[in-house]
Amino acid sequence: MKEVPTILATGVERFRITLCGAVQGVGFRPFVYRLATELELTGWVLNSSAGLVIEVEGPREQLDRFLERLEEEKPPAAVVLTRETAALSPAGFKRFEIRSSDAGVTKTAAVLPDLATCPACLAELRDPADRRFRYAFTNCTHCGPRYSIVREIPYDRPNTTMHGFRMCTDCAREYSEPADRRFHAQPNACPVCGPHLWLEPAELARSDMDPLRQVAQALAQGRIVALKGIGGFQLLVDARQVETVERLRGLKNREEKPFALMMPTLETVRQYSITSPAEEALLASAAAPIVLLRPSGSGDLAPNVAKSSPHLGVMLPYSPLHHLLMKEYPFPIVATSGNRSDEPIAIDNQEARARLGGIADLFLMHDRPIARPCDDSVVRLARGRESILRRARGYAPLPVRVARELPPVLAVGAHLKNAVAIALGHQVFLSQHVGDLDTIEARGAFEGAIQDLCRLYQFEPQTIACDLHPDYASTAWARASGLPVVAVQHHHAHVAACAAENDLRVEYLGVAWDGAGYGLDGTIWGGEFFLVRDGNFQRIAHLRPFLLPGGEAAIREGWRSAASLLWEVFGAEAIPDSRARPVLTRMLERRVQTPLTTSVGRLFDAVASLAGVAQQSRFEGQAAMLLERAIRGLQTGQCYRLEEGDWAPLIASVQADVKSNASPALIAARFHNALAAWMLEVAERAAVEHVVLSGGCFQNAYLVERAAALLEPRGFKVYTHQRVPPNDGGIALGQAVLAMPQSRGGFSLSGPFSTTARDKLKLIPPRVPETEALPVLAQRG
Ligand SMILES: [Zn+2]
Ligand SMILES: [Zn+2]
Repeated sequence: MKEVPTILATGVERFRITLCGAVQGVGFRPFVYRLATELELTGWVLNSSAGLVIEVEGPREQLDRFLERLEEEKPPAAVVLTRETAALSPAGFKRFEIRSSDAGVTKTAAVLPDLATCPACLAELRDPADRRFRYAFTNCTHCGPRYSIVREIPYDRPNTTMHGFRMCTDCAREYSEPADRRFHAQPNACPVCGPHLWLEPAELARSDMDPLRQVAQALAQGRIVALKGIGGFQLLVDARQVETVERLRGLKNREEKPFALMMPTLETVRQYSITSPAEEALLASAAAPIVLLRPSGSGDLAPNVAKSSPHLGVMLPYSPLHHLLMKEYPFPIVATSGNRSDEPIAIDNQEARARLGGIADLFLMHDRPIARPCDDSVVRLARGRESILRRARGYAPLPVRVARELPPVLAVGAHLKNAVAIALGHQVFLSQHVGDLDTIEARGAFEGAIQDLCRLYQFEPQTIACDLHPDYASTAWARASGLPVVAVQHHHAHVAACAAENDLRVEYLGVAWDGAGYGLDGTIWGGEFFLVRDGNFQRIAHLRPFLLPGGEAAIREGWRSAASLLWEVFGAEAIPDSRARPVLTRMLERRVQTPLTTSVGRLFDAVASLAGVAQQSRFEGQAAMLLERAIRGLQTGQCYRLEEGDWAPLIASVQADVKSNASPALIAARFHNALAAWMLEVAERAAVEHVVLSGGCFQNAYLVERAAALLEPRGFKVYTHQRVPPNDGGIALGQAVLAMPQSRGGFSLSGPFSTTARDKLKLIPPRVPETEALPVLAQRG
């Protein structure tokens, strides 16, 4: 609603400015106050449920300056997604003031993620003369907990988990003084009035000793410590002690999946890994994620920290508590989620005692409640840019702005790496990473995330978007909800998510490669090329299908995929001689328990197996990660043949290379290069300028960079994920944007495509006999 500006004879005007985005809890109101006062403007500012609303009144010249500086000098943590300015007739304000927040109806304001401790707070933490010296809950308007403490919007202290702590006189003064760094810092606290730390069990806690020093001592002695962090409990051990790390693995029931590390400083990180300036910037960012780095191979890390993983996942301390602990214990520590494998992270003290009691020797507790679970995020660098692999603390719940206004849709995501999303107008709010929905506890967390998101934003879904896979727990939940359901094909959701976050609104070629997703023909897709326009897709090419002997077992055991491809190309005698050979051959010949797949993820497994890089995957995607790592910087343009997605010549060449003792590095590079060349081949035949890459396979930095290096010089524009993960953690965004009445994702197969170049495209027929619709892998599909 815009009013016609009325300019009085005095030349005074009034602007109403509405800012949407992450504008609350970052010191925006005091900044506006200072700016307006300095420019001698009158009016007010308030936090509304729609964002930040400002009214300023004064001479036009000053108002223009205000608008300029509002953009240029805004608080560093603020993310302004939209700014609307309306000129109104003057109201005759006498001064500028900060008004109390209004309680509106549409709660579309973005809650800010949790932010790492700022330099000013860190300095206070280390200053013996400061009243917050060594205080573990120090924060200000530039840093500290946000999403993990907010219960309701607007973000004001009574609406946070800090509401039970009454500010002391000193804190209250800071909070109400506009010039103070803690002006309206909602979690503001000090040792006198704020949360405090203690150790459990009580008989182990020594009253004469600082709890953090006791934790340091316990770590040195090889104990497992449960620490209540920002978004949940973490389990800590000394990362240099092989036996302690092994004990943690046993108790956590986590065989091989790498553990994340926390290191005291960047200097320490450089000792253990090879970092680029961009990676160091990510480590030190306000989000402070776990960054996947190349291990340097030097140092005294226990080898079982990241057993058979190509990376080290490293983060820096991001809360005052972590900073204090790392000061007491300046060595690399394992800092992993406080849970058993596949369970959600524990956030509540009582819950942690019950669930982690059998794992941790010592608990470092505090009394600031955590509003919702939020794991540490995981990122890596690809194409010189940040690529988010797990989106949680530091990123959630920042919305992704989309071009089209969306109806109220709840998108429930996939089954693995689940995250849910709600669509509110032009914004899609993604929940934090929920995890794999295999256990009852995980399904509880999934429901919790949905309820939480809906309550926080007072959101009532009218439609639910889910995956097409009938056996996903998320799909079952959607079907049981009683609301209208739109099922979106898995790979369509992948590429739509990537297109949406890149604001791509025209026709594009979607390359969706991953481990598995339910295909329209009931087989397992995962090596797909789609032409996408107006929310419809046409499957224009895919990997030549092959059989997966043992179904789900083939995901964990890559040698099964290798055996299947060898059988197909050379016959049964090519399968390596072992006890498994007769059984496998029988399965393949009789088509027993051998679903069909076009999965590039499984092709990765097969090549990793043939090259001797990995015979199995102890965690999802391990073989592919190891194959990427096997390249080890080898520069070559050499390439296997994968024309029309037919892997037969490729498999024959891999076998020939293995027989002639070619290095795994060369085999891995030729394989990756072949995949990129196939992308170029299809892109040129499809003759579409925009190429969108999505799916778990594009967590692979070499593949992404190689594809871009081939496609871009030929005039193609390549789009990759930036704000949501390329893996199934980004699926909910794609589901949300596709759940439009006019685009029933996945069901409109034939779009009005007319280009003659495309007429030449043909589907590559399966070369194995077609049978009835094949069962798709349950759950893990
Ligand atoms: Zn601060
Ligand atoms: Zn205080």
